[in-house]
Amino acid sequence: MKKITVLGSTGSIGISTLSIVKKNPSLFKVIVLVANKNFSIMLQQCEFFSPDWVVMKNKKSADILRKRLKDKKIKTEVLSGNKAICEIASLKEVDLVISAIVGMAGLLPTLSAINAGKTILLANKESLITCGIIFMKALASNKAKIFPIDSEHNAIFQVLPKFVQENLGTVNLKKNGIKSIILTASGGPFFNFKKKDLSFITPLEACSHPNWSMGRKISIDSATMINKGFEYAEARWLFNASSSEIDIVIHPQSIIHSMVEYIDGSVLAQLAVPDMKVAISYAMSWPNRISSGANFLNFNKLSNLTFFKPDFIQFPCLKLAIDAFSQGQSAMIVLNAVNEVTVSAFLNSKISFNKISEINTDILMSSSFSEPVSIEEVLEIDKKTRIKSQKKISSLIN
Ligand code: NDP
Repeated sequence: MKKITVLGSTGSIGISTLSIVKKNPSLFKVIVLVANKNFSIMLQQCEFFSPDWVVMKNKKSADILRKRLKDKKIKTEVLSGNKAICEIASLKEVDLVISAIVGMAGLLPTLSAINAGKTILLANKESLITCGIIFMKALASNKAKIFPIDSEHNAIFQVLPKFVQENLGTVNLKKNGIKSIILTASGGPFFNFKKKDLSFITPLEACSHPNWSMGRKISIDSATMINKGFEYAEARWLFNASSSEIDIVIHPQSIIHSMVEYIDGSVLAQLAVPDMKVAISYAMSWPNRISSGANFLNFNKLSNLTFFKPDFIQFPCLKLAIDAFSQGQSAMIVLNAVNEVTVSAFLNSKISFNKISEINTDILMSSSFSEPVSIEEVLEIDKKTRIKSQKKISSLIN
């Protein structure tokens, strides 16, 4: 039985993960659950899974949860704060750590689990794209394993040769018969819109993805397509791929979750209904397969699988992220930080949808940092960029 920690258990990925545990009770035991504020979902999760530990980042939520658990005579220990999250992420008895906190807040807990040599199931792409080399070095030096949960990277992982799967991020793709990795993208809810049509988009419209049900931040990232640029960066690191070894293709139906093209002309693809439980369950059970609870594909109803070239003019954030990756690590940290600030401002109706890409571009172009060599330096760039981005937004709305 694998013992698991779910960082971000009350979110979209966390809930899907726990539904897989529920379906496979003889295979997994929940030891730790972590979230920010949502004590009511956490209470339900504690009632069902009886974890040994829960950490809520927010102290007030931890206090309420502790009291409710006591009333129900549930013995789960409740802690709070960032330090406790990082400590619990490295808990000795845990085998698998699901990294599904949203945004940069996931970085330190994920690194803590890596430093403890855990097997990481990575959904929190922000931690990898902002720390690339530090992150990959920490994996290697601590003999920690990583399995991608992001559906595209998980799809690629599923169709890679076993040797590459076992040595992720370190082997040469060409030497293993791989010509290129093809990331698919749905195009998001505004694939058929023109840029000027997007100025009056509401947060609700932007969060309404045609195929996937996800948390609010990644839903907006999918709508601007910066998410695909971040996934490009994630794939460069995870698969040790050069720029000429990655391609992006729009596939609006989200049935093919990504592909690997081999040097003999074969293309292997992973297909499934758009449900994150497929990717998560494969990462949880590799090299075996378990029941995920997702629906099965019905090929009689799949009349049309289409493919298009991405339009960088319609989706400037996609190009911005690809360019930031080639500029270097500090550019990627800046872009991730300003994007977290602009997405939050959009979700709180402070700026319009088009302003996300405008401000992201402006802050990226006007920032210059030397390349970070430590986590402290990464966090410093992140902090300075957030302050600068907030100031920019305030100047626009005042
Ligand atoms: P959600 O917004 O649905 O959930 C986020 C989770 O993180 C919640 O449990 C939230 O707790 C917790 N959280 C937020 N801030 C903190 C903090 N400071 N400390 C501790 N916990 C915190 O996000 P998603 O599940 O959609 O996404 C999670 C990650 O997975 C993201 O990095 C995203 O890019 C990635 N991902 C998501 C996919 C999806 O389909 N959803 C697909 C591929 C990748 P609370 O509920 O209390 O606020």
